[in-house]
Amino acid sequence: MFLTDFLFPRFCLGCGRVGNYICLNCQQKLIYCQTDSCFYCQRPSRFGLTHPICQRYHGVDGFVSIFRYNNFLKKIIKSFKYRKAVLVWKELSLTIKPEKLSKLIFYKKLNHGKKFFLQPMPLHFKKLRTRGFNQAKVISEFFQGFLRLPIANDLVRIKETKPQAQIDQLKKRQMNVKGAFRIPTGKLVKNNNYIIIDDLLTSGKTSAEAARALKKEGANKVFILTLAKG
Ligand SMILES: [Zn+2]
Ligand SMILES: [Zn+2]
Repeated sequence: MFLTDFLFPRFCLGCGRVGNYICLNCQQKLIYCQTDSCFYCQRPSRFGLTHPICQRYHGVDGFVSIFRYNNFLKKIIKSFKYRKAVLVWKELSLTIKPEKLSKLIFYKKLNHGKKFFLQPMPLHFKKLRTRGFNQAKVISEFFQGFLRLPIANDLVRIKETKPQAQIDQLKKRQMNVKGAFRIPTGKLVKNNNYIIIDDLLTSGKTSAEAARALKKEGANKVFILTLAKG
């Protein structure tokens, strides 16, 4: 036992048992997404690619999520927002079966000779300042281990938005994120491919708006990768 474990014991986020944030028993509560689906129509789609008929102007080209969102994952994602984030994330990442990530390699192969980047979903600077870190960046670093793509910093959040989960109507959700992102001055995104990485996808409006910001400036393909799907 390390001294830090003694001073700051870890309690399971699922059942409260001492030892780990994600105990062996509660690992069973993590449910993988079995089928990939189209970002827009939610119907099954190979590798989560957007169906040709569902394509939208400046839209998302594909979407992959690892887990289904449930109560346990809700607690895990909530804990990402605090100091222990890196430790919790480390435990979670160790439980992810490597074969569940192999499908991601497909995206990398879509390169077509263009530059390919992982783009963590940015936080508004005020939120970043209070939290001290961006959990999407921590998650991106993990995916980077599999995808071996550089992490970009080509998107900033210029609008502080309410959490989408707190807004009921679809129309209001759209308005909430409209114009929320921009490309930092001097960054060239033209012809690049991106995988935007975030912890959770709920309505998809935030991700779609982030993709739109990149495409408006000439990005080639934009995919979304999240840890969980609501
Ligand atoms: Zn447990
Ligand atoms: Zn579709």
